[in-house]
Amino acid sequence: MPGARCTGDPLDASAAFLRKRVEKAGRMWYDKRNSRGERLTDVQEAKMAEQVIFLGTCAHDFSEALTGECRDRFDRDARRASSLLIGRRLLVDPGPHVPDSLRIAGCRPEDIEHIFVTHLHSDHFDAGTVAEIARASGRTLTLWVRRDAVLDVPDGVQLRRMEAQVTYRITDSISVTSLDANHGPQVFPQWFLFDIERRKLLYALDGAWFLTHTYNYLKNSRLDFFVVDATCGNYTGDYRMAEHNSLPMLELMLPSLKTAGIVSEATQIYLSHIAPSLHRPHEEIERQVAHLGMRVAYDGLTLSLGEG
Ligand SMILES: [Zn+2]
Ligand SMILES: [Zn+2]
Repeated sequence: MPGARCTGDPLDASAAFLRKRVEKAGRMWYDKRNSRGERLTDVQEAKMAEQVIFLGTCAHDFSEALTGECRDRFDRDARRASSLLIGRRLLVDPGPHVPDSLRIAGCRPEDIEHIFVTHLHSDHFDAGTVAEIARASGRTLTLWVRRDAVLDVPDGVQLRRMEAQVTYRITDSISVTSLDANHGPQVFPQWFLFDIERRKLLYALDGAWFLTHTYNYLKNSRLDFFVVDATCGNYTGDYRMAEHNSLPMLELMLPSLKTAGIVSEATQIYLSHIAPSLHRPHEEIERQVAHLGMRVAYDGLTLSLGEG
């Protein structure tokens, strides 16, 4: 998206959130972590484990501003490749922008222990990013992929294959279930249903609609958070409708998801995997979907899963 404007404070979302948490908790864990690198207490670590940071929210049409004026900051209209950091130890999708996003968010690649791969499209999986994290961590990384994925495994990485609808315990408070997704089968797509401190987060990128068996599995799950593919905006006639959602598709889906008990009025729904070439600027998308009770994710957005 040539000529995208950069607006706002580069660290606005994460920094404001962290300041708020520091004030609220009366603790200086943020400063300790970032300026002095001191070890966190168990309580502090538990609070950070509940944080989810959107490291990127873009589809594959990245802004040229990322290599220019937005190189060192997040911007709601110059998105990076879709990726999510859970706590500090779990990364969803090691895309090409993850090293930059971690740096901007003030997070350290060496803290990452588990990488979950939704699929092998190049905006979600970059072998160089995996290798860089493995080098930084100095420990063996665990790379979680769909059961039948075919890929070269970088040094310092052990592969874990995930069966559909099987739940894997990752830490004392986090487990994850692999769900089949409606996306190009040649890239071994899967969605992730995370249970984090008994809060349910469905990360449903990439993929259009729901596959029947995934839909049935999720019935009555009453998600707390739902991150959903909204690649195509209001654009009519786009060729991607069989593997990505548009805003009218989401509007059609929502009442059925409520009927099936997958989402409720309490579910926080975030649109992500936004293609700037098919969307209005961020603030306009927010206005377009506000009446549906949906929000639009942006790079640097930080959620606290511990707060109901
Ligand atoms: Zn994608
Ligand atoms: Zn894809």
